[in-house]
Amino acid sequence: MHGIEAHSLLNRNRTMANRMTTLGRLEEVVSTADEFDRVVSQALPLLLDRAAGYTKRFLRETGQWSDDVAHEKFVLRWGAEYLEQFLVTGRSEVPCRPLFLLDSLVARQHSRPEPFCYHPDLLTPLGRFLDGLVGRAAVSRDALIALYHHCYGLGPGQVISALRLNGSESPRIYKNFQRWRDSGWKRAIGDMGMTDAELKGLNEQQRQQHRFNSDAERLLGFVQAHYRKSEPDHYPCLSRLQWEDMFLQGYGTDYRIWHLALCLECLRTAWGLGLDGAAIVGKPRLVLQLEP
Ligand SMILES: [Zn+2]
Ligand SMILES: [Zn+2]
Repeated sequence: MHGIEAHSLLNRNRTMANRMTTLGRLEEVVSTADEFDRVVSQALPLLLDRAAGYTKRFLRETGQWSDDVAHEKFVLRWGAEYLEQFLVTGRSEVPCRPLFLLDSLVARQHSRPEPFCYHPDLLTPLGRFLDGLVGRAAVSRDALIALYHHCYGLGPGQVISALRLNGSESPRIYKNFQRWRDSGWKRAIGDMGMTDAELKGLNEQQRQQHRFNSDAERLLGFVQAHYRKSEPDHYPCLSRLQWEDMFLQGYGTDYRIWHLALCLECLRTAWGLGLDGAAIVGKPRLVLQLEP
């Protein structure tokens, strides 16, 4: 065996050994909320892995799994949802063995009648539309860019200036818009199982109910928070100062494009920096666009 292979094998053994130690600690009883926080905070990647793994197994066993990015993102997202619930409820369940508490929480979620419904309003046509659109954005760049249009009515030029994208990114944004209009939207609507009658119904609701957009904005908040969990690398919200630094220094293009499409709070913060002077007036609000 060559030296490098032996070395990497040793490292792998060490990583596995660390994992076993962490796992062992999670199997032991923790007696206070502080101890729970301490033990759990050192093992977040492992716990996320475990929750996502259970979810994958559940999908496999119920014949709902396929080997593709969409399904990988799905289990990652739900793993993160369960971990979040676990972090909140676990503190009040002490004394407990954290690992077994997580296991039972996930098992309980999977045995509910609608195991993957994160908000009751998702079953309405409006909920299905928002969830379908944002869900598509988790796996398709065209859909991601289209969110700026569907949620805030921005055109490609406005997206480019709001995100302060540079020359090479601009043509891509125009192409994303074009492909979405040509075929992306139609396919997404089909996958949502949205009928023409339902779309027409939404259109009428929007014209007749003055609270339509503000209700939709509230629901969008839940939908965005859920789908942000698909992308741990671009997940954290940034402070005003961090956004300002990113925009002025010109780094983090992917972060901007991804996170701001999926976080109205941060979009408002970034918008409020006013770096483009008079180019943009007023703060973004949800004005739902049903058509591409
Ligand atoms: Zn060798
Ligand atoms: Zn954010």
